Amino acid sequence: MPLPLKLTGTIASPGFAHGPLVALAASVPTKRRSRGAAEETAALEAALARAVADIAALIASSSGAAADMLEFQMAMLEDDALSQAAFAAIAAGSAADTAWAAALDEQIAGYIAAEDEYFRARSADLRDMKDRVLQALSGATAARPPAGAILTGDDITPSQFIAADWSQGGAIALRQGSAASHVAMLARARGIPMLVGISDLPAGGAAMALVDAEAGSILLHPDPSSRAQFTIDQNAAAGRRDQAAARAHLEAMTSDGTHIAVHLNVAEPDDLEAIDVATCDGVGLMRSEFLYSRGLPDEETQLAAYRKVVRWASGKPVVIRTVDAGGDKPVPGFTVDESNPFLGLRGLRLALAKPDIFRVQVRALLRVAREGNVSVMFPMVSQASEYASASGIFREEAQGLLARGIPHAMPRLGIMVEVPAVAIAPELLGEAAFFSIGSNDLTQYVMAAGRDNGAVAALNNVTHPAVLALIGNVVRAGEALNIPVSLCGDAGGDPAALPAILAAGLRSISVAPAQLPLVKLAIASMSIGGQA
Ligand code: PEP
Ligand code: MG
Repeated sequence: MPLPLKLTGTIASPGFAHGPLVALAASVPTKRRSRGAAEETAALEAALARAVADIAALIASSSGAAADMLEFQMAMLEDDALSQAAFAAIAAGSAADTAWAAALDEQIAGYIAAEDEYFRARSADLRDMKDRVLQALSGATAARPPAGAILTGDDITPSQFIAADWSQGGAIALRQGSAASHVAMLARARGIPMLVGISDLPAGGAAMALVDAEAGSILLHPDPSSRAQFTIDQNAAAGRRDQAAARAHLEAMTSDGTHIAVHLNVAEPDDLEAIDVATCDGVGLMRSEFLYSRGLPDEETQLAAYRKVVRWASGKPVVIRTVDAGGDKPVPGFTVDESNPFLGLRGLRLALAKPDIFRVQVRALLRVAREGNVSVMFPMVSQASEYASASGIFREEAQGLLARGIPHAMPRLGIMVEVPAVAIAPELLGEAAFFSIGSNDLTQYVMAAGRDNGAVAALNNVTHPAVLALIGNVVRAGEALNIPVSLCGDAGGDPAALPAILAAGLRSISVAPAQLPLVKLAIASMSIGGQA
């Protein structure tokens, strides 16, 4: 019996699981011989069509993030740019499978080498498309891993995730992978524990492994005492979740009686479907970037998405953020190539640089604002002139809608405080209707430690006194200027950071839906000792 081996990784989706460690099959092998350019071309065309049809069938039975991911793949497969190199290689004498594999490998290498985490994370989608088409060419069907297994390998493709049977539990443990990948999003949505970046994870499987994706560890070949401890930890975590869920409808109140407003951060309207609006104080941040993930959305598409959230909120406040593209969120046709995108044209800077694109969103926001309690905030604001320009665009577009007889209303216009210049001198932005602290970006800019860079993760610490001092400064400025201040960065959802956030004076936070019950529970156990 091998000795127990405990390894650690990065948590991409929290939870506990135990089961056999099963290595995912490597890429589908290539083995055709060219039967001539015409036949190979026809074979690749047929395989591409089959892959697109398979994806279309999967989309019909999927929803939310899974459907989005599949639509992304379908759009890529239908784009001639992806297959051009393969057809050229076939014309030069290659077999269809060799040509396709080589063309995709080149693309995958490009994505893996990208500086941007978002693009590196998309390499798994390309591997998925590569295998899907190779499978269609060979007529093979992929073997399905057993239910309840802990799937392991360098990375996992979205199709492998969707094809796996998660009905008996299971987890994912990867040597590489990324918490920003599509699979990580799918895993979080389905509640499947997932660890990435376990660099020393051995190749091959194991009869038993215990995944603790709350502590970020995996234990191979556990002995009886570590199994017993695992069960204790798992039960304790389940107990915390049950206790939190049972209190989810209660007001968030510290043990010494201070109410804390807890709002939700929403990435997609579908995220709200399973949530009772009574459990929160509204939506503190609707990120609108998801609308731009498949090209530039028109006014009606945007209006429909915002309307869904505003209707769900049933009169509670909804804060919609104008598009925060750039930085780690590239949008084809909108963002620009930059050597240092986090310090470049992102957020409101980009929107003001491309006003024609921004104005479409402004009109949709003006139209939805009459349907509920809607506020709009601008991301990545650095100085007052940007706020003035953006609110000027809102006024101009409101005039245009009025002239065309289109119903609309002017929402409250506030800003994200996530650039140190604003956190140091918030009074310069005194025109804003509210401040919402973006602790994710504020921390990375104050600490000069990229939020997407694991090597400096320890520096990226929201509880560093410098970051907390700036948060406190914004809170005090808000009090002096009578401007409401909230926080919508991930720090609000982190029970370890919350005491420091409340001590800095914040009484309003916005967190991811999955964190809401645990955050309310954590608040109930905190005392803020008579602070105002
Ligand atoms: C933040 O920066 O804290 C924030 C909420 O915005 P995002 O994470 O979308 O950049
Ligand atoms: Mg931000």
